[in-house]
Amino acid sequence: MPEKKEKKSVNPSPEREEDLLNRTAAGVMARMPDAKPNKTRPYNAFEQYFMGDNTGGLTYPNNTVAINMNRAQNPDDMIDLLVHEYTHTKQKPRGLWQAYKERNIPVSQRPEEKEAELASLNYKYRPRGRDIQLR
Ligand SMILES: [Zn+2]
Repeated sequence: MPEKKEKKSVNPSPEREEDLLNRTAAGVMARMPDAKPNKTRPYNAFEQYFMGDNTGGLTYPNNTVAINMNRAQNPDDMIDLLVHEYTHTKQKPRGLWQAYKERNIPVSQRPEEKEAELASLNYKYRPRGRDIQLR
């Protein structure tokens, strides 16, 4: 009988996940010198609960970037999320008046979201072999 091979863990430990995020973040930051994240970290329990898996990341007004690790399970997706959020760190924070005026506009239709989406699509350092799905 063949020896039973040890299965690789599908879900890495939180420490390993965070390490991977930190190293990927450093790589993206080196390629986006004008981005200004002050800190990059995984979603905490509150963000995970309140934001859920429909969201990939958050950029706070102080430019802390939080990433939903459930949506960053492979390097490509992690890079996409980081480029998206780091693009937000270059944008002017939304003021209350702006938020009020845009309250009925779906998030995906806001100009700063479109800019961040485009930045991810146009990021030229994405790993080779990945096709961009235009929808
Ligand atoms: Zn966004």
